[in-house]
Order: sequence, then structure tokens, then C-alpha cells
Amino acid sequence: MALTVLNPATEQPIAELQQAGVEETDAAVARARDAYPAWRAVAPTDRARLLRRLATLVEEHSEELSQIESQNVGKPISSARGEVGMVAQVFHFYAGAIDKHYGETIPVAGGAALTFRESLGVVGLITPWNFPLNIASWKIGPALACGNTVVLKPAELTPLSALRLAELALDAGIPDGVLNVLVGKGSVVGQRLIEHPDVAKIGFTGSTEVGQRVMQGAAATIKRVTLELGGKSANIIFADADLEKAATSAPYSVFDNAGQDCCARSRILVERSVYDRFVGLLVDATRNVKVGDPRDDATEMGPLISAAHRETVASFVEGEPLFSGDVPDGPGFWFPCTLVEATNDDRVAREEVFGPVAAVIPFENEADAIRIANDTPYGLSGSIWTRDGARALRVARALESGVLSINSNSSVRVSTPFGGFKQSGFGRELGMHALQSYSEVKSVYISTEG
Ligand code: NAD
Repeated sequence: MALTVLNPATEQPIAELQQAGVEETDAAVARARDAYPAWRAVAPTDRARLLRRLATLVEEHSEELSQIESQNVGKPISSARGEVGMVAQVFHFYAGAIDKHYGETIPVAGGAALTFRESLGVVGLITPWNFPLNIASWKIGPALACGNTVVLKPAELTPLSALRLAELALDAGIPDGVLNVLVGKGSVVGQRLIEHPDVAKIGFTGSTEVGQRVMQGAAATIKRVTLELGGKSANIIFADADLEKAATSAPYSVFDNAGQDCCARSRILVERSVYDRFVGLLVDATRNVKVGDPRDDATEMGPLISAAHRETVASFVEGEPLFSGDVPDGPGFWFPCTLVEATNDDRVAREEVFGPVAAVIPFENEADAIRIANDTPYGLSGSIWTRDGARALRVARALESGVLSINSNSSVRVSTPFGGFKQSGFGRELGMHALQSYSEVKSVYISTEG
């Protein structure tokens, strides 16, 4: 069945693609399995050279890839350029990392033991539509660096950039069959990858609900899984913080990518004594977010991904919001930047909205802030704003979250581990940690007894 890919800012088709079914999935897994022995045997320094070439090709094609991503996701072109820049950095990082992924020598009675980091085989990668190329690179980089071959299934709504990346990988000299991209439904292609006996691991990013299915499906063949799932992160503003800076920054931590961000700090927790002042500053800052044509360099927020998703997002706004911004007329799945006053028990504070809606929640003191921030099934991200360094670290240690920032809303770096606590998933991407997710430790004992 054909798949029509839309531009969410115009609602117009931008591509028509054939979808893979179970048969094509099996064929792609077979290609990846056939390519595996030779790829695994490539010396790490040579694998590094190929990954470095891919990074360079991404840089050379960055404008083309950014335009594809911007049109397919509806994200501002400036954001797309930043993300493609990160994709190149990711491949550079793993090119540099792979020959430093050492084993150990362990003294044991009667000899010594060595450990080796072995590749897994064919890995299935399943990715979401919000940061299609970025998230794909976080998995492809370490997976290929470790000597695995890959079958990637991008989200149905946004497959275009991954298809182009696969072409660039061939141009870089990465052998045919090492990186395979399949366009198709999650329930068909994704499900088959999860169940396929020749797939050794699933690297999944997406919703917690589908993450549960991945775990269930993977059980039958004891597949390795890493799960990067949803979030409901807190942005905690203490009374002693630089309130102007925190308020100016806060909108971009929720409304970037139109709120379709697993790390969105969508619960803004504000100490009661500065609540009114901070909310005033926050409303002013939110009014300044530039919403409009993603092709415009100055645009900061584009439309949502689809009409269906807009309906879901709208269902979270009940009653009179604190603030609701403007959106362009005409086609496009627009939704305004929205601030609502809430308690942590309200649906808007409990469920992942995945749109530009932030719940603003007052708290009484440090203990109350920690209690509210942790009162969620999720544990992905969050921020702490305070001028008290000891408190910042104390609160960071107390929060049940995988990725935090202090006096900043930015916490994703190529070299630092990324992943969730609780129902936000497990396993870590990025940094040296991701190499562990795409390899297995083997221990070999050597007897030195005569
Ligand atoms: P989704 O779970 O609906 O889909 C993710 C991927 O899974 C898609 O490729 C989809 O086709 C596939 N899929 C769907 N059903 C499947 C099945 N039965 N078997 C196998 N694969 C299946 O998520 P989405 O709507 O694309 O993305 C939004 C979600 O992703 C949000 O919950 C967001 O928080 C999460 N997310 C998490 C991170 C992170 O790193 N933690 C990053 C980005 C997005």
C-alpha cells in the first residue's frame, strides 16, 4: 500500500512511498544478516574512517537534509539545521570513540581473564516522528561503530530524512546491507522486527505504550531492548533564581518543536512566594515566541505533526488558559503556545501532551518541589533554577530523572548519556554509554598453569 507523506505546515503531499510488509522486512533482515560477518570483521579504525566520511557527507548535505526535515516535520528551518549539525557530530563522535571501547584484563587464580566487547548482530531500530534524523543517528552511530548491521524503521509520518541518510551511507562507502531503512507501519514492520528471531536487539524511541509492546514482543526471543519513552518533566523555579532568565528560557523548553519533545519541561513548578511575578514574566516571554512559516529563518515554532494529533493536544486545554498565543491563518496543523494553571493531579500535569501546552504549578518549599516533580510515572528530564549551589545539587540528586540541567533548559549533548528513569525507559543513548547498549561483554579465561 502506498504511503502519502505530508508537509504539516501546508497539509500538502510531499512524497508518495511504497510501504514494506512482513516479506520485505524479512528480506531486509536477511540482507543485514548476510552483511554482518564482513562488517563485524572490518577493523575498528576502518569502521571509524567510514563513519567519519558519513559525518562529512551529512555536513556537505546539511542544507538539503535540513530542508527535508523541516518540510516533513513542520519544524522551523533553524531548528532543523541545528539537529542536522548534531547528526554529523554524532557520527564524528562514534568514529572517534570506537577504537577506545576497550576490554579489561582481570587477574584471576591460575591465569588471567580478558574481556571483549562483541557486536550483537542485526539490530532493529524503531524511531518516532519528532526528531527523525537526530534520534536515528543516536542509534545508528553506536550500532554501526560496534560492528552491528542495522534495519531502521522510521515513523510512517516522517521517513524522508532516514531514506536520504541511507543513500549517503552508501556514498560514504559503508557496504550495501549494513544500513537498511524500511518504510512501513509500526504494527507490521516494527512488530516483525521485534519478533524476528534473527534480530538481536531493538533500539526503540517512542511512546511508553508502544514501548510496553516492544518489551512484551522481545520476551519470546530474549532480545536486548533499549527504550527511550515519554516524559512529563518539571522545570523547577525557586524564589532565589534569576527569575528573568528562567522565564525567558522556560517557553523554549516546552514550545520548541511545538512541544513535541520527550524532554519538554511541560510542568513549570514555581515557588509560591514569587509565583505571581514569575507568571507575569513567563506570559510576556511566551508572547514573544515567533510562531509561523517553518521556512522563515526567524520562526521559532511551527505546526503540529497532524490533524489527529492537534485534536489530542486540544483535549488537554479545559477552561480559560493563563495565556494562549496567536497562530497563522490558512492551512497547517497549528496550535498556539498555551499556559494553563494546574495542580499536579490534573490530566494536563499527569499525561504527556506532546504539544505546546505547559502546566504551571505552585509549590511551597524545596521538599514540596521534589515531591511534586517526582509524582509522575515518568522520569526523563527536568531543570532546576536557583542561585543556591548546594540546593541545586541536592535537588538534582533527589529527582527521579535521567537527564537534568541546572540554571539552563539544555541537557542533551553528544558526549553525555541520555535516557530515562521509571516509565521513561531504560538504557542510555549518546556518549560512551551507548556503546554498551550495542555490544555484549565476553569474558575469556587463559590458564597460565604449566
Ligand atoms: P509511537 O510510539 O507511536 O511510535 C514510535 C515508533 O514505533 C514509530 O516508528 C511507530 O511506527 C512504531 N510503532 C508503532 N506501533 C508499533 C508496534 N506495535 N510495534 C512496533 N513498532 C511500532 O511514538 P510517536 O508518536 O512516533 O512519538 C512520540 C512519542 O515518542 C512520545 O511519547 C515521546 O515522548 C516519545 N519520544 C521519546 C524520546 C526519548 O528519547 N525518550 C524521544 C522522542 C520521542
